[in-house]
Formats: sequence, structure tokens, C-alpha cells
Amino acid sequence: MKRKFYAWFLLLFIGYCVLISYYLLHAPTSLPIESKGGPADPATFMTPVQLGQAEFFSRINDIGAFISDPFQWVIYLFFLCFGISAKFRDMVQRKFKRPIWQIAGFVFLLSFFTKVLNLPINWYFFRLEHIYGVSNETMGHWAVNHLKSFAVSFILMVFMVWLFYSVVRKSPKKWWIWLLLISIPISLFFMFIQPVVIDPIYHDFSPLKDQQLKKDILDLAKRAGIPGGQVYQVDMSKTTNTLNAYVNGIGTNTRIVLWDTLLKKLKKDEILFIMAHEMGHYALHHMRWLFFGTIGMVFVALYLLFHLMHWTTRKVGRDWGVRGVDDLASLPIVLLILSVLSFVSLPVQNAVSRQFEHAADVYAMDMQHDSDAAIRSFQRLAVESLSEVNPPALVKFVYFNHPTLYERIQFVKEYGSHLR
Ligand SMILES: [Zn+2]
Repeated sequence: MKRKFYAWFLLLFIGYCVLISYYLLHAPTSLPIESKGGPADPATFMTPVQLGQAEFFSRINDIGAFISDPFQWVIYLFFLCFGISAKFRDMVQRKFKRPIWQIAGFVFLLSFFTKVLNLPINWYFFRLEHIYGVSNETMGHWAVNHLKSFAVSFILMVFMVWLFYSVVRKSPKKWWIWLLLISIPISLFFMFIQPVVIDPIYHDFSPLKDQQLKKDILDLAKRAGIPGGQVYQVDMSKTTNTLNAYVNGIGTNTRIVLWDTLLKKLKKDEILFIMAHEMGHYALHHMRWLFFGTIGMVFVALYLLFHLMHWTTRKVGRDWGVRGVDDLASLPIVLLILSVLSFVSLPVQNAVSRQFEHAADVYAMDMQHDSDAAIRSFQRLAVESLSEVNPPALVKFVYFNHPTLYERIQFVKEYGSHLR
């Protein structure tokens, strides 16, 4: 019965892969006639080779994105339906006395095998980014970063799993409410402390070297009402050609961060437009709203998780060798439910995010009045990350946390003509 169920699920997954790939490879992406030849038309700022690459590269990336989450469900169900999760639990319970070691052992086995099963896909995308020149990362660096991120997420995961089962065992009927309360400081940590404490583990941060640019950025920050005067550059050009910058932290701890790729690839007025956009997020309190939004999402997710966990363990727990919600072997069910919930909520999250990003573009235009620099920086963004200016509707709906570059260029062009 469980094998049959798994076989059906696998079939469904393969059907989904075929359908989604077919849609993505055939979806129309041509621009409206009136924008042909204008600044939003990639043919005006990309070479024909770049155009072809951007289209192919984005297509493959889109297919990867749509398939990777459901692929995790295939893996989790594999652990469950074949009783592997139950076997892992028996193994760590035999080997270790203390619950924390049992959890560490279980999480290690689960993450290790998940990582191994994901490796071919990760490797393929690593190669692809090389072939298309989006990434400069050496294989050694890639492997080391994968090991680092495995270690960091392993430690975090052991902590989270330990917390989860401790709360479930202490309060079998109200655990989701306790977890909601605990999630508040954890979200605060990830939003405000992680960029300052965890990010430097992966990358080198140093004060911005270009003093004139630093002065201009700080002048801009002053106009945006951003306190403190720390401007950093991060050494990212070793690994990527994509451009990024952000402002985070609270009060005098606020830091303005630019990836060095931005310094290398953009002109000064373009950098200042991007920085004005980032400062817009800060000045419009987007982080605060993001925080409340996250807590709201966690509330819904935990409530559903509570009911779905009880329902699943009652229905198929015996088949899968899972003794109850408080059994360590139920972890793949927890991960499966959370992954499904996060996948189906992506369109909502991203619709909100697109609103924020648009508001930051408006803010930057009001600050800089420079639609010319804005258009050029968006065009560079498209070229450097080989992103598609006008992606298929479904891709935008599910995965785009920014308006498309087509929409952004059209907007600054229009808005700029009104400001003049
Ligand atoms: Zn933004």
C-alpha cells in the first residue's frame, strides 16, 4: 500500500515536471509592440548572444526552481514510505542514550542523505552558471562553501529540532502556540542579527575604500534619515557576477553594505540610484512590516502544521513506522508539511514583496530624479545576472519578489518624465 502510494506520487511528480517544463519552454515572453526598441527592450542593450543565453539560462533556472521544492517532497516521502525514517530513529536510539545526541544523529543522517540526493542537481546548476559566466566560483570554493553551509545548517537544525520535540513533548495539545511565541525572537535573530554575525562567516566585509563614494552614500543616507555611518563592501566578485546591496541593522548599528561587484560594474550615478532604492526599504520601514508579516505567516503555518501532523500520524503513522507527533521519526513529515506550505504561499509572499520593491523604486526616484541612471542600472542588472527582462507570467506570479525588469524600466521612464 505504501509502495503503491509512493509510486503514484512519483508518477504525479514526473507528470508535473513534464508539464511545467513544457509550459516554460513554450510560454510567450515577447514584449508589447510599443516598447520595442525602447530602453526596456533587451535587444537595445544586450548582444544577440547574451539575449539567447539569458533566455535559455532563465528557462533552465525557472524549471529548476519549479521542480526543486516538489523534489524535496519526493525525498521526504521516500524516507517515510520505505520506513527509512523509522530505521534511522531505531539506529540512533540504540547508539545514543541522551536525547540531544539522538537528535543530532538523526538530523545528520537525514540531512546527509538529502544532501547526497540533491547533489546531482546542485552540481548541474553550478556547471550551468559557469558555462554562462554568471559565476566565477572555483570548484574548491564551491565545495568548501557547501561544506560550510552544511555544517551551519546542521547545527541550526539540531537546535530547532531539539526545540520542536521538547515543546511537543511538554505540551502535546498546545505546542503550536508555544512555538509561535518562541518564533518571535528567532525571527528577530534571523532578520537583524544574522546579516551581522553569520554573513561574515561566508564572506569578507571591509569598510568601503572609495572615500568620495562613501561621502556621497553617507550624504544620501542623511537625507533618508539613516543614522550611523558604516559603509561596507563585501568581497563577492570571487564567486559571482550578480549585483547586490542592502541596508540593515537597528539604530546606530545600521550598516550600509555594497557587494564589490556593484563597485566594479556600475557607474557612480547608477550605484547611487541602487543605494537610494535600498535606503528606501529602510526609510519606509519595510523590515518592520516584513517582520510582522513573517510572524503572521508563522502563525498560520504552525496552526496548520499542528492539525496536519496529528491527522497524518493518525492516518498513516503505523504504515510509516511513526509512533506519534512526538516521535523523532516524524521529522520528515514536519519538513514535508512546512515545505508544501511555504511553496504554496510563495505567490502571496512575493506579491507583497513586489509591492515593497516598487515602493523603494518610487522612493529612489523621488530622491535622485535620475531615470537615466535608473534605467542603465536595471539594464546592467539584466546583463550581469542574465535575467530575463520579461519572464513568463507563471514565473513572475510564483517566484518574482521584484517587479520584472521590464516593469521597472517602464516605470522609471514614465515617472522620470513626470518629475522633470
Ligand atoms: Zn529592493
